[in-house]
Amino acid sequence: NDDILTVSHLKKHFSVGKNQMLKAVNDVSFSLKRGETFGLVGESGCGKSTLGRTLIRLYQKTAGEVTFNGIDVFGATESEKNKLTRQIQMIFQDPYASLNPRATVMDSIAEGMDIQGLNKGKKRKERVHELLETVGLNAEHAQRYPHEFSGGQRQRIGIARALALEPELIIADEPISALDVSIQAQIVNLLKKLQKERGLTYLFIAHDLSMVKHISDRIAVMYLGEIVELTSSDSLYANPLHPYTQALLSAIPIPDPDLEDKRERIILRGELPSPIDPPSGCVFRTRCVHAMDVCATSKPELKEWRTGHLAACHLLDETKAQKEAAASKPD
Ligand code: SF4
Ligand code: MG
Repeated sequence: NDDILTVSHLKKHFSVGKNQMLKAVNDVSFSLKRGETFGLVGESGCGKSTLGRTLIRLYQKTAGEVTFNGIDVFGATESEKNKLTRQIQMIFQDPYASLNPRATVMDSIAEGMDIQGLNKGKKRKERVHELLETVGLNAEHAQRYPHEFSGGQRQRIGIARALALEPELIIADEPISALDVSIQAQIVNLLKKLQKERGLTYLFIAHDLSMVKHISDRIAVMYLGEIVELTSSDSLYANPLHPYTQALLSAIPIPDPDLEDKRERIILRGELPSPIDPPSGCVFRTRCVHAMDVCATSKPELKEWRTGHLAACHLLDETKAQKEAAASKPD
């Protein structure tokens, strides 16, 4: 089995106010293949960050199972928890907020090692210097403080910090969204290089499809706490099946003006509903141009329509039924 992480029917609900539940992550299942980059995409508030944070146990799950390298993440023993901490690390959107402003770069990067009792004494300094060079910074930067760095440099520090414990999986929560476009490519290239050298697996969280296009092997599209489509990056762009994915893709600018004219921009109706009171049936139905009666009464299942291409939409059942009916009709 090539899967490094398996997420099965994971739910993370938060209670808000009286008897109300915010269903941030609602019955999500997927797995990560060792060494791949898996993009997780959706508008802000769709639950993608909550999902990432639940996977590193910043939140306790509401229901479901998560297995990492054979370890039951939510039933882990103390020694398994230490192992999980070393093997799964996270990078955040705002590296400034995730670094202690009063700690030197040395102490920030070494924090995880210190907690785990690794690389003590002289080795601590050597290891931090080596990590700084790995991410394209200088060893002399170790004695400085986060405010002395640019956004891109801070994200490099965040990456060095994540690498310190030699993780196998890195959950990157919008690691480039806050950076200038020119810096974004540099960070993406650094992440790709590190992946190649170290066989890292990435869960790459982003709010728009253009950001994950060049880095992801596979992509899952999330809407209101649920995965609505999951497939390889290539088939998602070439042949999106879910109306939400189709709308997201139509919003990505194409550099070629001729193509731009020919493409139809799909405008989503209305606002993103609240995850406290999500629509019945299909969660996307209040914004879907194809919504039918059945969409209000029954939740579409995430089904495999082509090898490795999953989507949750009643329209696909309808189209399939029509095709089958047409095929079985005698001439
Ligand atoms: Fe649209 Fe219905 Fe498909 Fe939901 S199930 S995406 S509402 S057609
Ligand atoms: Mg977020």
